[in-house]
Amino acid sequence: MKKILITGGAGFIGSHVVRLFVKKYPQYQIFNLDALTYAGNLENIVDIEKAPNYTFIKGDIVDAVFIDQLFAEHQFDGVLHLAAESHVDRSITDPLSFVKTNVIGTMNLLNAAKATWQGNYEGKRFYHISTDEVYGSLGAEGLFTETTAYDPNSPYSASKASSDHFVRAYGETYGLPYVLTNCSNNYGPFHFPEKLIPLFINNIIQNKPLPVYGDGKYTRDWLFVEDHAVAIDLVFHEGENHDTYNIGGFNEWQNIDLVKLLCKIMDEKLGRAAGTSEQLISYVKDRPGHDLRYAIDATKISKELGWKPSVTFEQGLERTVNWYLENQTWLNNITSGEYASYYEKQYSN
Ligand code: NAD
Repeated sequence: MKKILITGGAGFIGSHVVRLFVKKYPQYQIFNLDALTYAGNLENIVDIEKAPNYTFIKGDIVDAVFIDQLFAEHQFDGVLHLAAESHVDRSITDPLSFVKTNVIGTMNLLNAAKATWQGNYEGKRFYHISTDEVYGSLGAEGLFTETTAYDPNSPYSASKASSDHFVRAYGETYGLPYVLTNCSNNYGPFHFPEKLIPLFINNIIQNKPLPVYGDGKYTRDWLFVEDHAVAIDLVFHEGENHDTYNIGGFNEWQNIDLVKLLCKIMDEKLGRAAGTSEQLISYVKDRPGHDLRYAIDATKISKELGWKPSVTFEQGLERTVNWYLENQTWLNNITSGEYASYYEKQYSN
C-alpha cells in the first residue's frame, strides 16, 4: 500500500484532489495534512472523512520538528503539496506569512522527504502544485510556456516562485524526484468567497456591490477545479521526473466580461429581471502591482499526457453557480466568521 501525503487538503483545490485520490485509489493510504487556517475547512471533505483509506492530520508545515516527526512516523512514498497562503490581496498586507508558509513550509517538506528517502528514490515523488502567477504579466499577445522566465510581481507570486525554485534545486542538487505544475485561475465548488467568482456569486445573492478592480480589463485564464484535480492525478502518476507542466483552460476572460456573464446567469437563476445584477458592479481602487494578463499554453500536458479540460466555461460556471445556490449554509458558515471582518476592512474605502 502506498502512503501519500496531501498538504492543504482542506482548502479549495486540495479538497478536490483529496476526494479524487481517496475515491479512485482505495489501495493508497491518503493522509491530509492541513493547519486549518481561515481558508481550510473540514466541511469541504465531510463526504470522505470516514473512508478507510483516509486520515486527517491537523498541523502546520512551518513547524520543522513536527514535519520531520510526521515523515519519520509514516514514511510517505509520495507528497502532493498544495498547502499555501493563496490570496494575493492578503499577501500585500502581510507578505511575511506568505514567506513562512509558502517558502519555509515547502523547504520543511523537501527536507523531510529527502531525509526519509535518503537517496532511495524508487517509487518516490514530490509534487509541488504552483501557479502561473510566477511568470508575471503578459501584454495583449503571447502565452506562458514552461520555459517562460519567472518574473513575479506580488508577494504571493514571489513566494510561490521561490518555492518552485527550491523544489527544482532539490531535484538538481540532491536528485530528489519531483514534478511541478503551474496552473491558471481555478473556479468551482468549495472556493473560498474572497476570490472573484464565489465572492461575486455571494454578493449578488445578498444584493451587495460587486467590487471590480481598476477598469475591469484584467485578463485571466479560468479552469474548472475538477479538471485541475484530474490533471494533478495524471501528472503525479505519469508526469516525467524532474519536469514542469503548465495547466490551463485555454479560456481567457477579461474580468468585466466574466462579471457580466456571471450577472446574467445569476439573474436567470434567481428569477430577477435581466440587468438587475449588473447594476451592482462598482469599480474600486486598483490592486498595487496588478498583473494585466495571464494566459497559459497547456500544449505540453495535452500532447504528452493527453489531458484537456472536460467542461466548457459556461458549463463549469453553471455547475459552480448551482453548487453555491444549493450550499448556502456552507457559504453562510464561512462568511459569518473571520472573513466577514476581513471583507469589511478590504473594501471599506
Ligand atoms: P486555499 O487557500 O483554498 O487552501 C490552502 C490550504 O492550505 C488551506 O486548507 C489552509 O488551511 C492550508 N494551509 C495554509 N497554511 C498552512 C500551513 N502553514 N500548514 C498547513 N496547511 C496550511 O488554496 P487553493 O486555492 O486551494 O490553492 C492550493 C494550491 O494551489 C496553492 O499552493 C496555490 O498556490 C495553488 N494554485 C491555486 C490556484 C487557484 O486558482 N486557486 C491556481 C494555481 C495554483
